[in-house]
Amino acid sequence: MIAAAEETHLPDTRSHSRMAWLRRWRPTVSTELLALLTSVFFTAACNYELWHSLVADVHAHARLLVAVFVFVTALQAFLLGLVLSRWTAKPLLTVLFATTALAAYYVGTYKVYLDPDMIRNVLETDPGEAGELIVPGLVPPLLGLAVLPIAVLWRLRLRRRPLLRAAWVRLAFLAGMLALAAAGALSAFQDLSALARNHREVRYLVTPANYLASLSRVLLATPPGPAKPLQAIGEDARGTPRASGARPRLLVFVLGETVRAQNWGLDGYLRQTTPQLAAMKDVINFPDVESCGTSTQVSVPCLFSPYGRHDYDAARIRSHQSLLHVLQRAGVQVLWRDNQSGCKRVCDGLEFESVANATDPALCSGKRCYDEILLSGLRARLKPDGRDRIVVLHQLGNHGPAYYQRHPPAFRRFTPTCDTEQLGNCSRQQIVNSYDNAVLYTDHVVASAIDLLRNEPGYDSALIYVSDHGESLGENGLFLHGVPQAIAPSQQTRVPMAMWFSPGFASQSGLDLACMRRAADEAASHDNLFPTILGLFQVRTALYDPKLDLLRRCERAQS
Ligand SMILES: [Zn+2]
Repeated sequence: MIAAAEETHLPDTRSHSRMAWLRRWRPTVSTELLALLTSVFFTAACNYELWHSLVADVHAHARLLVAVFVFVTALQAFLLGLVLSRWTAKPLLTVLFATTALAAYYVGTYKVYLDPDMIRNVLETDPGEAGELIVPGLVPPLLGLAVLPIAVLWRLRLRRRPLLRAAWVRLAFLAGMLALAAAGALSAFQDLSALARNHREVRYLVTPANYLASLSRVLLATPPGPAKPLQAIGEDARGTPRASGARPRLLVFVLGETVRAQNWGLDGYLRQTTPQLAAMKDVINFPDVESCGTSTQVSVPCLFSPYGRHDYDAARIRSHQSLLHVLQRAGVQVLWRDNQSGCKRVCDGLEFESVANATDPALCSGKRCYDEILLSGLRARLKPDGRDRIVVLHQLGNHGPAYYQRHPPAFRRFTPTCDTEQLGNCSRQQIVNSYDNAVLYTDHVVASAIDLLRNEPGYDSALIYVSDHGESLGENGLFLHGVPQAIAPSQQTRVPMAMWFSPGFASQSGLDLACMRRAADEAASHDNLFPTILGLFQVRTALYDPKLDLLRRCERAQS
């Protein structure tokens, strides 16, 4: 009895003394040393993807790796030296350790490049999207890269120095770090400048510099306060009067999400992921379509703008009105129905309806709704009143990484599936299966929308489906999307597109469907949508470029 008591007592004392030692452990360091140690920690511990990419993709040799390490570490320490003081160091570094751990996890897991577009995506993510990215796999990196260094940080005492001496020490430190960065850069100057020329994207892997620089660029470009009104475009836009007795036109534009051409049945994918559309012989498929960008944030504003990718200027696109404003001006009634994170200002001031938080128990789980919610009650909203209409249905589509949540259970046809957001826990095949099941469901949603239009006698109707960008499913170690356009793999930039026209719509808009079916194989891109849709409604404006109108190809071919 006594022995047992002693046995349990012993380890207790030991852990007690260990605790006491920890409580006493309060080393004193200078702020400069803290800046340097923090920088070494970031470069060494938070940049797995940078080092991996330099070795595997760039085939960097040892000297270049050392040069990058010294250059990055010294430069970071220099920047930290500019902002850290005895008063700011602990709160600033606490925030920095926490955000850097998150950044390191997402860069390392999905190989995302934290450029300004990606940061804009992050800032405009809705709570549902964010929730899907918070996964159990985050816990170990958060413990190792955030909790541990923060705990150590708060045990440190920062050395006090008389003001003048402190100023001299700091100046010497800053000069030293700059000199070290320069020495690092010069030690492998040719290789480093080749790296900067040929692999510019690598800089968006350097954590935390990537998100800090991108964040400040985004914040500088968006002044605080209410958003400025968009500048008008197409003020000359006029509609063409309909023939007397002709029915009003209705175009349903299904804006897809994250569906790539490679997995689209109609584009020749070995798996039939689009059985319902394939069975409709009057659907025209465009197998060779390039997206404007690799993220919703880039593609959606771009594909509704007259500038597009051929005349790309993100600031100009974001500050000007869209195709929808031009249509409205020409007398076409606009409605944007959204099952996602909004219209990215494309529908500013126009009729907007979010169905993302609907409560239909058959289609909504409390967090998210399946895309058929976009069709629910649609008919009632579109009572013919004599006006032409365009309705944009903004899908949740194949939004990852929770592909398995993007379709009702009946569409779980390809198995085994990946039933978690943590793609790292699944095999490639499981991920592809879940992704393909979600494509099957998009096929069903689009086909259902066409059926709805077929049975709508009040309109001559048409439908266009196009995805905003593609997705990487593990090819070259990449997942999700958002790689800068210039280096993006085709999985992220090739997207499906399909169109359907009722006979009434085709004859009213002067379309030769048989000819269009032949012309559909030609290369197309998001840039074609702006003029094509203007052409469908016969809107006259100087912004209309007939050369880019996909449906005028037939006329060109015949003339
Ligand atoms: Zn998207």
